[in-house]
Amino acid sequence: MKPKSIILTKDQIPRKWYNILADIKMNPPLGPDGKPISPEMLAPVFPMNLIEQEVSSDRWIDIPEPVLDVLAIWRPAPLTRATAFEKALGTPAKIYYKNEGMSPPGSHKPNTAVPQAYYNKVFGIEKITTETGAGQWGSALSFACAQYGLTCKVYMVRISFDQKPYRKAMMETWGGKCIASPSPETKAGRDALERDPNTPGSLGIAISEAVEAAVSDTTGKTRYSLGSVLNHVMLHQTIIGLEARKQFEIAGDYPDIVIGCAGGGSNFAGLAFPFVQDKINGKAIEIYPVEPKACPSMTRAPFAYDHGDTAGYTPLLPMHSLGHNFVPAPIHAGGLRYHGMAPTVSQLINEGLLTPQSVGQLAAYEAGVLWARTEGFIPAPETTNALAQVVKEAKQAKEEGKEKTIVVCFSGHGLLDLGAYDKYLSGELFDYSLDDAEIEKFTQVLDSYPKPQDLKSV
Ligand SMILES: *Cc1c(COP(=O)(O)O)cnc(C)c1O
Repeated sequence: MKPKSIILTKDQIPRKWYNILADIKMNPPLGPDGKPISPEMLAPVFPMNLIEQEVSSDRWIDIPEPVLDVLAIWRPAPLTRATAFEKALGTPAKIYYKNEGMSPPGSHKPNTAVPQAYYNKVFGIEKITTETGAGQWGSALSFACAQYGLTCKVYMVRISFDQKPYRKAMMETWGGKCIASPSPETKAGRDALERDPNTPGSLGIAISEAVEAAVSDTTGKTRYSLGSVLNHVMLHQTIIGLEARKQFEIAGDYPDIVIGCAGGGSNFAGLAFPFVQDKINGKAIEIYPVEPKACPSMTRAPFAYDHGDTAGYTPLLPMHSLGHNFVPAPIHAGGLRYHGMAPTVSQLINEGLLTPQSVGQLAAYEAGVLWARTEGFIPAPETTNALAQVVKEAKQAKEEGKEKTIVVCFSGHGLLDLGAYDKYLSGELFDYSLDDAEIEKFTQVLDSYPKPQDLKSV
């Protein structure tokens, strides 16, 4: 038997996160007056220790020991060679995957949920509110809050709340509270229900509700938490790529191509940013964030200032955005149905350091099923988008006869998403395309905001 995985020992776990803000220039987030916001303006929403991380430009930031203690439940994560998948594709490419599906909630999301819960706890916060789409983030934060004795309240997008009852059961098993969004508990929720009592909900609305619930709590002991998009979330996720870099060193290999699916950008950034650092320092490497064709913020939407939520409670962020009122088609990769994209990922796209890609829903499930039948793990619907891109690259390597090294972030398993596989296998899923007129309609709102500058860092 040849070794299939490169496993780090517990004492090889990275002790610091990599902060890409040390290496790139960014447009600042803007307040309602169109001026850059000060860290103090975020204080009702996030604890100050996390706000400091959000704006820090230190290249390396220590991971606190009590955070490492919890991450050690499942980290370091294996880097595994997908030999059976390679063989099925008949490709000369070497395909490695970083398996983030081994965490208790089943995805990469606890890599940031754990430190976020920890920093809130240290700051004296007792309750955290958040939103969740497909339920991965809500369950990750419920798990993390249980580790530090915090209360967790999750606003779950209505359609997923109805489609995925076991996600709610998971959150409640960890002690979290989960309600359907829009809810009658907040003004943002009541407004959305008034506009459409039968609305399926959206991530944008659920974020508005969770932010409102945090800032309107008069005890001062409640804060909000976001599972993607923000700088400190990308920072926490870099543990994925830092581990992978060490594992490649042990394997005596190095990737030619880095791939991850991107909803808000966090699992992709987690794997990719340490390799972006290498690229800035001169390494030749292709880095691909992958999105669904049904929600093409990186490949078809403008780089603009936009709100992170539908009600416009959040600051304006410089990002590739389809407009905060965009409601994507009901594709099953719930975690990839977000209108915007992390400002850091967006900036790196503008600099030409990343090359975004898009894939259709059917190609994604086809790759996911092939993966399950070869490598065994059933991928989350989001993850199948990255795997579809791996298939494209592996086929191209075959045509060119090149032995390329590819690494992909396996962002989570799909064991709570079997309803989607059931639909795919019985031929009930479709590809969605989006015409230019529709994109134009939703992005019109962006014209009323200031324009970000075209910055060059590298
Ligand atoms: C949430 C989620 C994603 C998308 O979020 P990112 O912030 O872009 O990583 C991807 N894969 C899985 C399994 C998820 O749960």
